[in-house]
Amino acid sequence: FAARCERRQPVCETEAPGLMPVGDEGGVRCHFPGPRPGSAAVEILPVPLPALPVAARPLLEIEALKVHFPIRKGFLQRVCGHVRAVDGVSLELSPGRTLALVGESGCGKTTVAKALMQLLPRSGGEVRWQGTLIEAKDKRQIQALRRKMQMVFQDPFASLNPRMRVGDILLEGMLALGVAASAEAGRPACVALLEQVGMKAEALERYPHEFSGGQRQRIAIARALAVAPQLLLCDEPTSALDVSVQAQILNLLRDLQAELKVAYLFITHNFAVVEYLAQEVAVMYLGRVVEQGPVEQVLTAPAHPYTEALLSAVPRISGGRPILRLQGETPSPAHPPEGCHFHPRCPKALEQCRNAYPPLRPLPGGVQVACHLAC
Ligand code: SF4
Repeated sequence: FAARCERRQPVCETEAPGLMPVGDEGGVRCHFPGPRPGSAAVEILPVPLPALPVAARPLLEIEALKVHFPIRKGFLQRVCGHVRAVDGVSLELSPGRTLALVGESGCGKTTVAKALMQLLPRSGGEVRWQGTLIEAKDKRQIQALRRKMQMVFQDPFASLNPRMRVGDILLEGMLALGVAASAEAGRPACVALLEQVGMKAEALERYPHEFSGGQRQRIAIARALAVAPQLLLCDEPTSALDVSVQAQILNLLRDLQAELKVAYLFITHNFAVVEYLAQEVAVMYLGRVVEQGPVEQVLTAPAHPYTEALLSAVPRISGGRPILRLQGETPSPAHPPEGCHFHPRCPKALEQCRNAYPPLRPLPGGVQVACHLAC
């Protein structure tokens, strides 16, 4: 725990503490247990992220991305409306950096990732990879992009084929995308991949059900890394895991990023994860980005009432901001409210919020906000 502890001393980094008795029945493994003299509360400190340079050219640029699903009705299945799952999202991601995409369930975060992987068709917008426009129907371009971009899914139990051995799971993508010429040639790379994610070579001959949730997620990460991608789309990769295992997977992802310089588009609803892993964050509501910018800026001084409400709901040991309760449920993306989509739930809504959707406006500190009140 030394890396995150504000009480740490040099000894904490070299010697594991023994279990010291506390009170009649308790015990604590800490070289310096008890409150530090003069301090009211102890904060758990995030490990500071290394300062990463922003590359001159973005790795990925998404411009006004739309994914609309038709609603069909009647005997003839006529289209009578659309679910606007993603409705004009623009994002930019630099090499080796992490952009977190946050928001409540159903806000369109996963749909953005699936549209990028071409697992869902785009209804509009442009995607550029290192400045080159990716045509939605160009199969060769998409095949090439799949090698550069891989996805790690939320549920490690469902994302690995239970009938395949781990070795075959790792080889599958390598053979399909031409990274390995044959199974034999790809085997040493599979062993190296397993070691990279903290597993032993003997795992190659075993089946996914023989592993714990955390180990399966490690295998899923190894599979994604098998084709040496430059970008990983991580769709809540820790939310199905126990809390202690979540920390291990987050640490692994951070170490891999430092080692491989891979970029992450990290989908989550957990602001602690955003703080720990990301340099930039974009907050989505009903298929649109309502606030985006550097993590430090957005998390310490949220400019959009929705971001403020999400952050106020994060429990903190040392108090925190007053809880801002949102009224009602998230409206359906099939019938988003007129004007600002957030106005029926916004405690600060004005008359103009009911009439016009606010455009994303730049604020000092590199933040962009879609709110009439932001200044
Ligand atoms: Fe609230 Fe109006 Fe800002 Fe929308 S535009 S978030 S309704 S204050």
